Amino acid sequence: MSKIDLSTSWNFDAAPESTSHIKLKKQYDLFINGKFIKPKSKKYFDTINPATDEVIATIAEANEKDVDLAVKSARIAFKSWSKLDSKERGKYIFRIARMIQERAKEFAVIESIDGGKPIRESRDIDIPLAVNHFFYYAGWADKLEYAFPNKKVDSLGVAGQIIPWNFPLLMAAWKIAPAIACGNTVVLKPAETTSITALKLAELIQDSGLPEGVVNIVTGAGKTGTAIVNHPDIDKIAFTGSTNVGKLIRKSISGTKKRSTLELGGKGANIIFEDAAIDQAVEGIVNAIFFNQGHVCCAGSRLFVQESVAKTVVEKLKDRISLLIVGDPLDKNTDIGAINSKEQLATINNYIKIGKKEGGEIYQSKCSVSKKGNWCPPTLFLNVSQSHTIVQEEIFGPVLAIQTFRTIDEVIEKANNTPFGLSAGVWTEKGSKIFKLSQELNAGVVWANTYNQFDPTSPFGGFKESGIGREGGLHGLKAYLKFE
Ligand code: NDP
Repeated sequence: MSKIDLSTSWNFDAAPESTSHIKLKKQYDLFINGKFIKPKSKKYFDTINPATDEVIATIAEANEKDVDLAVKSARIAFKSWSKLDSKERGKYIFRIARMIQERAKEFAVIESIDGGKPIRESRDIDIPLAVNHFFYYAGWADKLEYAFPNKKVDSLGVAGQIIPWNFPLLMAAWKIAPAIACGNTVVLKPAETTSITALKLAELIQDSGLPEGVVNIVTGAGKTGTAIVNHPDIDKIAFTGSTNVGKLIRKSISGTKKRSTLELGGKGANIIFEDAAIDQAVEGIVNAIFFNQGHVCCAGSRLFVQESVAKTVVEKLKDRISLLIVGDPLDKNTDIGAINSKEQLATINNYIKIGKKEGGEIYQSKCSVSKKGNWCPPTLFLNVSQSHTIVQEEIFGPVLAIQTFRTIDEVIEKANNTPFGLSAGVWTEKGSKIFKLSQELNAGVVWANTYNQFDPTSPFGGFKESGIGREGGLHGLKAYLKFE
């Protein structure tokens, strides 16, 4: 039977999401002690739309003095917030959850404009999950003694929280919700390229009536992050970002009483056995590596296909990626949006160059994109082995390295041969294989016949260079409590 050539016979009309309902300011200040204030640094930087190269707004750059003010305000607020009846604490957090839900469409559109991700993802994944994190931890606020039976628990104090640019509002929710549910107060720094939804959250927090100083949001780049890490009056650092910066943070706080959770990079193995439902597995491969342009710590960026089905899987995968729509993040048909920044695009292109130079066979889908903005087509690399740089290092883009295997022991050995240990996927119809792999793969999460599924009730975190500690679920609460 001849194949239908979907790539040439089908064209979608543009289906742009409306932007008429969003409110953006030209300039954003720091959110300290419940108010927006100008930075003592007197400096601002531009935040750019990665799909158009246009400046969206200017954002305040916090220096050490600004961070100090934010920490002081969090310390003062801690005295009353930690003593507040826990039911009341829970009510505030429920209110924040509901208010994000009410403004979900505005948050989704802004997330796509500022970060480049497809509106389908910010609308259906990022924002609903952020809401769910607030709901989930709001529920625990007055039940901590049931969460940890027979233990007396107490809040830690002031948490310094630093987040990356790949899931801006969601990462803010991961950090803020459990911290304040446990009676702590926070100073949070979003990533330089994606500060706006955190600042919109600050506006919403102001409207929610949350007591002043419980949540402080300071913007800036790495230097602002360093000022938070080195501040002497911070009790805990919660960091999500690259392994290199995670190592720096670990060094800076060693010898201090500061606690830390570090959620770092990954190089997830996605394993397809010959008995898997192949068409579903191909969809799973696409979701694992091309979700959010591959800017995902747990992305399935190393594909292992059992030799007997490798040819079929690769053919189907090539066909499938030729249909992926790369382009305007605000178009509801878009599958792959803009790469978050020019710097990240340069990093990805450099890895593609290295992949080719080291002998990898590249396959990229043909897609036409705007001259403005940062774009990378979905990219496959065949003919690579364990020692290739693109197999070992995290690329954080839509680039998949494909290898084959013959036996279950071989694939376990190969999958574990990485400095990281964050995530893996297994595709098979045999429960016994799923159980064996989920025990023997050295990864914080192993998905079976699915990939990139997230839930606030479930702990998330890695082994080895993927970090220390867990976020989400009860583990996420534990990281913000002292046990007596
Ligand atoms: P970075 O480590 O570069 O940045 C993370 C955050 O730390 C940003 O806010 C950044 O500021 C700030 N920062 C940079 N330098 C320092 C410093 N010296 N001290 C303190 N803070 C600093 O990571 P990316 O933003 O590039 O994010 C991508 C990385 O995050 C990937 O490796 C990915 O795997 C990982 N990640 C891990 C997750 C997990 O749960 N394990 C989830 C999501 C991402 P700025 O950006 O403003 O310069």
